[in-house]
Amino acid sequence: MTAHVPADVLSRLKAVVGSDGWSEDPARLAPKLVEWRDRWSGTTPLLLLPRTVEEVAAVVGVCAEAGVPVTPQGGNTGLVGGQIPQGEILLSLEKMRAIRDVSPLDDVIVAEAGCILTSVHEAAEAAGRFFPLSLGAKGSATVGGLVSTNAGGTAVLRYGTMRDLVLGLEAVLPNGEVFRGLKRLRKDNTGYDLKQLLIGAEGTLGVVTAASLKLFPILTSRATAMVGLTSPHAAVELLARAKAESGGGVEAFELMGRRGLEFVLNHIGGREPLESPYPWYALIEIASGQEGAAEAAMERILTAAFEAALIDDAAIAQSRGQAEDYWALRENQSAGQKPEGTVWKHDVSVPVSRIADFIAEATAAVEARYSGTRVVAFGHVGDGNIHYDVIQPAGGDGKAHAALRDEGSRLVHDIVSRYDGSISAEHGLGAMKSAEALRYKSAVEIDAMRAVRAALDPKRIMNPRVLF
Ligand SMILES: Cc1cc2nc3c(=O)[nH]c(=O)nc-3n(C[C@H](O)[C@H](O)[C@H](O)COP(=O)(O)OP(=O)(O)OC[C@H]3O[C@@H](n4cnc5c(N)ncnc54)[C@H](O)[C@@H]3O)c2cc1C
Repeated sequence: MTAHVPADVLSRLKAVVGSDGWSEDPARLAPKLVEWRDRWSGTTPLLLLPRTVEEVAAVVGVCAEAGVPVTPQGGNTGLVGGQIPQGEILLSLEKMRAIRDVSPLDDVIVAEAGCILTSVHEAAEAAGRFFPLSLGAKGSATVGGLVSTNAGGTAVLRYGTMRDLVLGLEAVLPNGEVFRGLKRLRKDNTGYDLKQLLIGAEGTLGVVTAASLKLFPILTSRATAMVGLTSPHAAVELLARAKAESGGGVEAFELMGRRGLEFVLNHIGGREPLESPYPWYALIEIASGQEGAAEAAMERILTAAFEAALIDDAAIAQSRGQAEDYWALRENQSAGQKPEGTVWKHDVSVPVSRIADFIAEATAAVEARYSGTRVVAFGHVGDGNIHYDVIQPAGGDGKAHAALRDEGSRLVHDIVSRYDGSISAEHGLGAMKSAEALRYKSAVEIDAMRAVRAALDPKRIMNPRVLF
């Protein structure tokens, strides 16, 4: 439902951004009001497209004064519906795309919120540096969205999440004031860290307008292997050895099961990665700055694992193309499930040491309660992050499976909670999981979060549907 916004407020907002900085055209608005999987759709009285931090500040100032709610949006790739307005003013950062600076001496890139992740990668590379955060949506996801969801992706094991990669932020706070915190310091112990509050705030504590991000050396030696395993236990054991023996060189360590792999091979394509099928697979990537070092480390680790009977088979990619083929088997895990019908998706994390027990317990519980359902578990083992998907019975009724989603997800989330895990490892809470999270977070945490929000946004104008 579109909230009623007084005509004089709409006029003031339009005046702030000028004639080419807003739109009410349904065709222009349409792609910003649905998310890519069509799971969320929304409405807005007005789309605003500011070009500068001053314009964002003026827009938020008008909204704060009038008590009119605002939803910020970047690339609209979020997976929990936080960026889709339900009647709020829609503030898109798409016109703020400048790379303001790249400094190899500071190992820093300063990018505006609307910059697409691929542009950050390209600008860093042009300066002989590497920005490590990468994910499937890199061609659309923006700096502002990545900061606001504290995105993770494929290289968290080595480089951390966005929270570890942001050195400074510029943001407009909910009262319209500008926080000019675009520092590029690695040490700054001067009280509460406001930028860390804004990271992962999902647009509830202000609008991020730019970020200074850490850069790293480009690592030229890289080895990728696919390993066949009998259990997730073996994967966790192998990860510990690989981390120790590569001297911290493991960049990715991804787990997938046979069922998920077969869905990819059957529905998307690709080649069997190993000669015989195995119940579980680990995709490992090691990188080093020293020529040949990653390849040598991978050989050493896999040989030792064979000798210890920890792994059953392994293949090291002989070319970048072969490595990309292995990665495609991992990256198509979600796409491969689609033709199989309705899926309950869970993006959860548990301590790495407990991944195998969690998968075993959750799968036994789900299969016992929902006969015929098919579990596909895969993900970033190194981060304890498992995408735990439950697919409808083969040839069964998708609608009936969808109707059981809330109840089935509760079963999975309760087990996650007992393992001291999180019901949202990567994607945030958004509109989808905020209510569910109330069940798992302590009253102390929720009260503190509400107090912070009320202090910064007493009228609750920023993304009011999201978080607590
Ligand atoms: C194919 C695919 C793969 C993905 N893989 C991963 C993955 O591996 N790891 C991972 O962590 N995530 C992943 N994601 C989800 C991830 O959350 C988003 O891709 C990304 O972080 C969101 O960026 P965006 O610019 O699209 O933000 P949007 O979707 O536009 O917004 C996301 C949230 O941030 C808020 N927001 C956006 N911009 C701003 C701003 N400037 N200031 C304040 N708030 C803002 C919005 O209000 C919303 O709540 C994936 C998504 C897709 C579609």
